[in-house]
Amino acid sequence: MARTETQRPAWPLSLWLPICVMLVFFCLGALLWVAARNHDQEQLKLALQVETANVAQQLEDDFRTHIQALIRMADRRAIDPSITPAQWKADAENYRKHFPYYQALEWIGPDMHIRWVNPIAGNEAVQNYNVAFNTTRRHALERAAATGKVDITPILTLRQGGTGAVVYAPIGKGEHFNGFIAGVFHLQNLLQGLLSDEVLRNFAVTVSDGDGKTLSLTPNTPLVAGFTRSQALRIFDLNWTLTLEPSHRWANARRSEWSNFVLLAILLCGILITGLLVLAQAAMRRKQILQETQDALKAEIDQREMVQSDLERAANFNPLTNLPNRRFFMEDLESTLRQSEENQRSLALILLDLDRFQTLNDTLGHLHGDTLLNAVAQRLQQLTSKRISLAHPGADEFMFYLRDISGPEDIVPLVSRIRGCFELPFDIQGIQHKVTATLGISLFPESGHDANTLLRNADIALYRAKENGRNNYQFFTSDMHQRALQHLELTKSLHRALSQDEFVLFMQPQLDLHENRVDSVEALIRWHHPERGLLPPSEFIPVAEETGMITEIGRWVIRKACEQIARWQGGPFSHLRIAVNLSGRELESPELVDFIENSLLSNGINAANLEIELTEEIFIDNITHNLEQLVRVSRLGVQLAIDDFGVGYSSLAYLRNFPVNLLKIDRSFVEHVDTRQDDAMIVRAVINLAHNLGVRVAAEGIETESQLAFLRAHHCDVAQGYLISKPVPVDKLETALLEQRYSTDNTPS
Ligand code: C2E
Ligand code: MG
Ligand code: MG
Repeated sequence: MARTETQRPAWPLSLWLPICVMLVFFCLGALLWVAARNHDQEQLKLALQVETANVAQQLEDDFRTHIQALIRMADRRAIDPSITPAQWKADAENYRKHFPYYQALEWIGPDMHIRWVNPIAGNEAVQNYNVAFNTTRRHALERAAATGKVDITPILTLRQGGTGAVVYAPIGKGEHFNGFIAGVFHLQNLLQGLLSDEVLRNFAVTVSDGDGKTLSLTPNTPLVAGFTRSQALRIFDLNWTLTLEPSHRWANARRSEWSNFVLLAILLCGILITGLLVLAQAAMRRKQILQETQDALKAEIDQREMVQSDLERAANFNPLTNLPNRRFFMEDLESTLRQSEENQRSLALILLDLDRFQTLNDTLGHLHGDTLLNAVAQRLQQLTSKRISLAHPGADEFMFYLRDISGPEDIVPLVSRIRGCFELPFDIQGIQHKVTATLGISLFPESGHDANTLLRNADIALYRAKENGRNNYQFFTSDMHQRALQHLELTKSLHRALSQDEFVLFMQPQLDLHENRVDSVEALIRWHHPERGLLPPSEFIPVAEETGMITEIGRWVIRKACEQIARWQGGPFSHLRIAVNLSGRELESPELVDFIENSLLSNGINAANLEIELTEEIFIDNITHNLEQLVRVSRLGVQLAIDDFGVGYSSLAYLRNFPVNLLKIDRSFVEHVDTRQDDAMIVRAVINLAHNLGVRVAAEGIETESQLAFLRAHHCDVAQGYLISKPVPVDKLETALLEQRYSTDNTPS
């Protein structure tokens, strides 16, 4: 089954989106990681800076304290130069207790030689050592002696061993100069003593002077390469620099794990979101597939429902007008009847048939016939209400039921409204068509207790209304039922009549008024009914026309007429032409012409001996087809006559186009032709007009000499009527003809 066209585009299950999202998260993580790392590094630098500053501060403070102590010692000595070696020793030891980083305290005489040293142990090598051992030193010491300012050596290799520096605090200055109090720092010891274990464990500490001499204390742990911090030490005039190079341990301890954590967290987020994305995609895809399946299912259900409702509609509604059909209407009527029965209310069923719709349909063509039916349906539909239902069972029939009525008088307003629907003409293709309708009405409960009976009786009433002339209405009565039964009976017995050969052709002579002799006879059918005796055509032809049996009867007549012509061939009646009556309906049959031709051929007769009589209805019903049929008949050589001329549509214009040989003026004009001016005028006009068109004229129903005289005087060509002869059986006709009884002054009785 076809799906609906409104399908969504397939949701793409793409890996690109998750990959991109993952990449974004990765980049973001990397960026934040780098940023966090940089921040860490900055923090580390800061920490190193702080640490270096602290260490420098500590070194400076301690150094300065130690040097201050030395200066104080020198100042004391300057004030009181008389000091005994024992006092010096006690003093020096006391100082060394308080300032433990001095490796040695020395008194240097003005001659620049070390005099006293404390402690002696370990410093024996410097006893009497000349501290101005080179020019630079001497100049520096002399400058100190002169200025009284402390002199500090660059970092040097100590005579006692190791690397260090010596601080010289002059005792007095200038001419009062009395040597130096010197303090020897063993730098390594000094640093190890001054710096905390924490610093020593975590940093490589380097002290360097301006001459490039350095001392480094390096922990036995790996250092962070290239990551150092230096700071100048502000100790008197010293040009020393302190450099700290941290160990990995120190750096790592300060490094925050945030960067890694952030990276990890973002990567995890990325993985999570990517995963969610993949899951969401899969879910959406799944949802979409589900939705698609649902849509397809819904479309199928819709389609089935549509088919179902179409089927229901087709089962219950007329496809042309969309009105309920017979089935639906009858079911509805049946249940309404049951309710009416319970409520003891009456109901009317109205059957409506459009008059001469077939003719209109043929004239307009089926398409416009349908348009007309629709237009009628629309007008009728406006009459429906809660109490009034309408249906279109098919063809040109409509039916109503009107419920909850008290009696027939309640129906009259609806009937007049129905008739009102036909007052205005219908516009079909810009042409106004006046349409009328005939109604048959049956009543519940009087005319039937069930829907079928009511419908059948409404149909009988309709038929009766049509018989009485169209464009009216008729209530069903019980005697109609009787008639309908007879009608039914007649239809059945017509079949029998054909098979049992109960029909017979009577012949009525037609007198040629110019030759004054009978040249033709009209075959008029009779029925030898086994019970009812000899029946005239008016008793059974209309029923035969209605039931369609007229075709078979017509063929029978043609066959019998041809056989008769054949029998007359070669005899005294071989000149006689037989006119047979055909009803318009017979002309519809496409096989008619072939049948006539076969009958002529099989009987070996001359076509000119056969005449076909048709009434004027052929000029309005299905003209093109009829013209075609008549042309074919005429081509065979068969004569054509228009019967009962004047009562129908009386259009002489058609005579020009149709191959007509004879015009038979209807008996109703002939009846008073000798007494009524208007009839006389009409008959005269018809004769003249027909003659002008080259058509011969016959007058029907001539019963008096006076009528005949009038017609003869006005050049009517053929006379037919009781005055000449009534229709008679063939044998009687033959006898009369042989006896030449058919002259105007010698008519048979
Ligand atoms: P129609 O073709 O016009 O036939 C003439 C009718 O007028 C005949 O009636 C005839 O008996 C009657 N008639 C003739 N002269 C006079 C007269 O002077 N006075 C009076 N009062 N009547 C006269 P019939 O035979 O009863 O036929 C009636 C109609 O039945 C015919 O009218 C024709 O239309 C139809 N009919 C007869 N035979 C056939 C047939 O074989 N096939 C068909 N389709 N219709 C037939
Ligand atoms: Mg006739
Ligand atoms: Mg006639």
